[in-house]
Amino acid sequence: MKVTYTLIDQVVAEGVQILKEVYPSFQYQGFTKIRISKARSKWGSVKKNCRTGDFALTISNCFEEIPDEKRARTKLLSTTIHELIHTIPGCMNHGSNFKYYAALVNRRYPALHIQRCTSMESFGIQRDIKSYPYVAKCGICNKEWKWTRKPRLFNYISACECPYCNTKSLSFIKISGIAI
Ligand SMILES: [Zn+2]
Ligand SMILES: [Zn+2]
Repeated sequence: MKVTYTLIDQVVAEGVQILKEVYPSFQYQGFTKIRISKARSKWGSVKKNCRTGDFALTISNCFEEIPDEKRARTKLLSTTIHELIHTIPGCMNHGSNFKYYAALVNRRYPALHIQRCTSMESFGIQRDIKSYPYVAKCGICNKEWKWTRKPRLFNYISACECPYCNTKSLSFIKISGIAI
């Protein structure tokens, strides 16, 4: 299943209809912006512009990696409804209000199974857990620095001053992914 803006528009409309059905006073404010991301850390997110009160929706294209088309479509709809619930007053977090509306949907449409969060792994998606093979630490204030590649200060780290505690107590605790 290809994640396109047309598909997201369709799914948003479907989600609005479902929410109106289970909660007739639901008012769809509309998303002023919709964005498709390459995020592998979350399925979707909604951001509120505190000044205007507008909502922006971001949907990851990771749904494309769910092999079963039907399952992918259902998960996309479920995620979109999750994000729509966030636009209901008092539902920006996953507290009791959020859970209340999610339960209304789930009671009527158990297959949507709206949750506060679902792992990508449970859908067979490989998350990109960023690894940092180089980690240095200050022996005095315990502040850490991480690099994905060998840093330039690698050979003279002992001469570097920690900007937090102003001592020269930095050393590597991990090199090429190996703890030392
Ligand atoms: Zn959420
Ligand atoms: Zn320090």
